[in-house]
Amino acid sequence: MTPLGWFPEDQSLVYGQLAFDSRGRNPKSMIKRVRLDGSAVSWTMDPPDQVEFAALSTQGDTLAYVSNGELWIQDLASEKGSERRLIQGPAFFPAWSPDRALLYVSSGKLMRIDTRTGEQRTLPVQLSCEIPRVSESLLLHNARLLTPEPREGLWDVLLRDGQIRSLRLAGMQPAHADRIMDLEGRTVIPGFLNLHEHLFRGFPMEGSLYWGITSVASAGDEGLWTIAQQEAIYSGRRPGPRIFPSGGFVVPTQMNARPQFLRARNSEQLRRYMDHLSGLGATQIKAFDRREPWVEAECIEAAHRCGLPVLSHFLRPASVAAGLDRKEHAVYYGLDGDIRAPFAQDTIEILRKAGITITSTMVTLFVDSLEGQPRFKAALARTDVSNFLLPVRAEFIRRRLEKSSDAAASYDPYLKVSLANTVAAHKAGIRIVAGTDYYFLVPGLHWELELLVKAGLSPLEALRTATSNAAAALGVEGRLGCISTGAVADLVVLEADPLEDIRKTQKIYAVIQGGRIIDRASLPKAAQPSAPSSGTQDSQKGLR
Ligand SMILES: [Zn+2]
Repeated sequence: MTPLGWFPEDQSLVYGQLAFDSRGRNPKSMIKRVRLDGSAVSWTMDPPDQVEFAALSTQGDTLAYVSNGELWIQDLASEKGSERRLIQGPAFFPAWSPDRALLYVSSGKLMRIDTRTGEQRTLPVQLSCEIPRVSESLLLHNARLLTPEPREGLWDVLLRDGQIRSLRLAGMQPAHADRIMDLEGRTVIPGFLNLHEHLFRGFPMEGSLYWGITSVASAGDEGLWTIAQQEAIYSGRRPGPRIFPSGGFVVPTQMNARPQFLRARNSEQLRRYMDHLSGLGATQIKAFDRREPWVEAECIEAAHRCGLPVLSHFLRPASVAAGLDRKEHAVYYGLDGDIRAPFAQDTIEILRKAGITITSTMVTLFVDSLEGQPRFKAALARTDVSNFLLPVRAEFIRRRLEKSSDAAASYDPYLKVSLANTVAAHKAGIRIVAGTDYYFLVPGLHWELELLVKAGLSPLEALRTATSNAAAALGVEGRLGCISTGAVADLVVLEADPLEDIRKTQKIYAVIQGGRIIDRASLPKAAQPSAPSSGTQDSQKGLR
């Protein structure tokens, strides 16, 4: 139930409610107005579909709402059937002004429409920002470099204006810089990129940064919430990684869509939705529709017209033909098969010839497996993991850990086939990138690297899946995921060489983002929701 408005004059409350059919599908909204003295419902509105962002006009006589991305209004004083579509959309976050105009967000722009005349205009607001660049120069002296290729000798790496400015073999006398950090032979690698996460409320932004994951790409997220986090991080109000948002999901029509998920009904809707996501700053699109092959194929075409790659769990012929970019999870997924079946040689050939990247997320199977469970428990007991989890999330994970060893063992075949598929694809020359999926356990990406080595990749090949390969899959090669002149200065300093033992990626000495040394010790505190307080600063923090 969502309260929509409170009317003191007749002590009434307007609220919305979702109802499902007997199979728990096909959600449909009901909107009701009740008086608090119990004198019953003054009206019930029965819109044809699921409604989001319902907003009552300041006069209390008109309701604006978004249904399937379209902006509608309904005159509450008149009989049923008075609803009117204002904007085909996609339009989100309608808010009324007292003069009966509606403000809303569409394609990353703030718009205004006069509900009486239909006159529309764009309001000039600058909605984007970038991670601040540090003008002070920093020299990393005596660094062993994995760029991710290993380099002979010790190096001086000069960082300025958020970039790597020069790489020189280290001399006795370090070059001039505002600040010099003597690394005494410690290993510097590019900051990690996690290519499969879901950026929903509670995602450990600070924790990602703490563990050296300086970029996170979303495989489906909460839309504008994610964009808001990106702005908070980039404007310096919240520590966190660079965000590559997907801006939502394309989901099956029968699913309970959250705000900003598109339950695609036709090609025109798909096309407009892609324009919207592109305008919002999405960098990749997650298609998740296992029922109707046309949705995914047309989604790929529409996304490609906007220059956006598409990720999917499935490998449908129509999607491969349309140019699917990434296959998520190295297992067959959901169409008709057993996910424990290994990839057929034909599948590997199709992936290779079509140039499809595989996102390996073995850690999600590992944490449920017999071997993974004790590891998971031990990690939860560590403060450098648990401090970054919201209590509700920690509780969810703890409950998952209560399963029997038989239940845990039932995950082992999935993990086994995932390891085999990943290494088979890798050997065939298919690009592998690393991701963690939805557990929100911050060392997860490091565990994924361990699993990749266990599958049969060398430590260097595993490192590439979360650095140079990942950057290439995002279309940012040469800028992220590498140590070279002109690249962004997102780096991780390790205590020891991970080529000897991949677990050494977890021994972090320092994290550098945009040329700035991150104060890692302050991150656990920054991640805690602050206690309610009257101070402005604290209440702003509470918005996290
Ligand atoms: Zn996922």
